[in-house]
Amino acid sequence: MSAVTAIPESLEVSVSQISDLKARQAELKTLQRAVKDRAATEAWETKVLVRNPNYQVGSVRAATDLDREQLGHCHGKVCTIKCQVCGSERTVNVQDAFQVKFCGECRKQAGREAAKEKRAAKKLAGISREDIERQIAELNKALTRVA
Ligand SMILES: [Zn+2]
Repeated sequence: MSAVTAIPESLEVSVSQISDLKARQAELKTLQRAVKDRAATEAWETKVLVRNPNYQVGSVRAATDLDREQLGHCHGKVCTIKCQVCGSERTVNVQDAFQVKFCGECRKQAGREAAKEKRAAKKLAGISREDIERQIAELNKALTRVA
């Protein structure tokens, strides 16, 4: 009986130590989560860089109200892309980091040039083999005349 009632004074101390330890454990869990998140972000960045060297390393962040306003639909995280042509920075949704390579202005320009190339290719595709062979024959005839 006497053994049960004789609670050592040190046990009271350990109750407060337990709550300290619980608080410390919660801190460590938060830290652990942050380390895991960072590792995941770094792995993601490595993948992005393989496909898009214009991605700016370390630019992943939570979207601000201004970002949401500019991007229209936004799912939380954004990052920065440096334009391949003019070098200006552009904020994009993280899920667009794989393919965005130009700023808004240069994208329009690139689109115009791509359309021009497409038209030229279409025009070239419209020329028949006979046309090309005839042109080559004419050029060869002109060359022999010069020689
Ligand atoms: Zn640009």
